[in-house]
Amino acid sequence: MAAINDDRFFDADIETMPRDQIEKLQEARILQLVPYVYQRSPLVKSLWNEAGITPDDIRSLADFKAKVPFMDKDMIRDYRDKHDDPFGGLACATAPHLRGVGFTSGTTGDPTPLPRSEDHISLTGLKREMWHMGVRSNDYMTYMLFTFRDGLNADKWLESGMRPIAIQHLPNEIPYFVQVSRQLRPKAMFMLSTPVILTLEQYQKNTGEDLREAFSSYQGAVFGGEPLSPHLRSLVESWGLEIFELSSLGDIATTMECKAHDGMHTWEDLALVEHLDPEKNEPVADGTRGELVVTALADDVGPLIRFRTDDLISFTRQPCTCGRTHGRLKPLGRKGDEMLIQGKSILPIDIFPLIGNVKETSSGLFQLIRPQREADILNLRVGYDQNSLETPTDELAGRLTDLISSKLDIPVNIHLTDNAELLKNGPPNKIPRVTKS
Ligand SMILES: [Zn+2]
Repeated sequence: MAAINDDRFFDADIETMPRDQIEKLQEARILQLVPYVYQRSPLVKSLWNEAGITPDDIRSLADFKAKVPFMDKDMIRDYRDKHDDPFGGLACATAPHLRGVGFTSGTTGDPTPLPRSEDHISLTGLKREMWHMGVRSNDYMTYMLFTFRDGLNADKWLESGMRPIAIQHLPNEIPYFVQVSRQLRPKAMFMLSTPVILTLEQYQKNTGEDLREAFSSYQGAVFGGEPLSPHLRSLVESWGLEIFELSSLGDIATTMECKAHDGMHTWEDLALVEHLDPEKNEPVADGTRGELVVTALADDVGPLIRFRTDDLISFTRQPCTCGRTHGRLKPLGRKGDEMLIQGKSILPIDIFPLIGNVKETSSGLFQLIRPQREADILNLRVGYDQNSLETPTDELAGRLTDLISSKLDIPVNIHLTDNAELLKNGPPNKIPRVTKS
């Protein structure tokens, strides 16, 4: 088949591959992966032996989905601790191919080790995304370091001709960030977070800088780490930036919105994506709520195999209007963050748009208080902005209670806290959205 020459895509053959060919490619990669990983990964061998499965039992993609046992973070950490194996039983290669260890991106608990090769798989997808946003050979992009503990991997960008400008994710780097945006005219901003946006807002107030002018070369800005509140979205848009939301694809790669802004593309040549009922382990229909389960298809150093991410998503395999054919997901939250209030499923994503539209709470800072999964009433800690307070806090709490209980149809108890106070509860880039007390 002749290569597709279409300037909209970094890798047109892959990005627009028909569904049946994506599945053929996945099957070929799975059938290669199965004996490879069974012979090399001690964790996989032990899980498969326990399940009574050998590579001979897997002859197709359907066999793989029906028979191969799941793994999760607890299993990786248990293996690491019991066998004194820093790679959690995942490593399939040794030096020099095994180049280091990354960690899962979770904000809670013990970081889970992930062996890394010199091929940084996340970057394979990110190059497609940056191209889609408008970055071409010799263009600059700002590259804020905080999502990937693996670092910049500048040499990996070289072959694409795209040129990242490294910026630390720290408040005192903001003036430098604005300055290089003016000097080098970058095309893409990777990536914004809630604290960076709030710091930029403060910086604009303090200095009177025209951020719309400073950022006028950008064709897009990536935002990730958590859902974006309506207030922060409108703030970023007031600087003339188109926002592309990004999330982790089960720690295998990233997944990001395209210009259609209707879900984040999952690169299915890099990851086999399953979308399962969290309780019954069976596939659920496109467009419904299910758990993301991933298998790494292009990682020969420490591939995750049927890894249960605990992430709840909606997922569709319908081709996108942007021309790409790979699936799209919408993140809904963590399985462990879900609360059942009088039997009704509630996730932080249900709260965001409600408090984000109230002026005093528009920074979108809140925490679900979740001593256990089920409760009769939702206890919600909400941050407010001291400066925009026009009524007593009792009145604000009453307004929020009415709004949230009527929209979600559950009883709510609001605990108001000053924004600055609430921000002390978290690491610098985000606060936990769910807390035990
Ligand atoms: Zn698309």
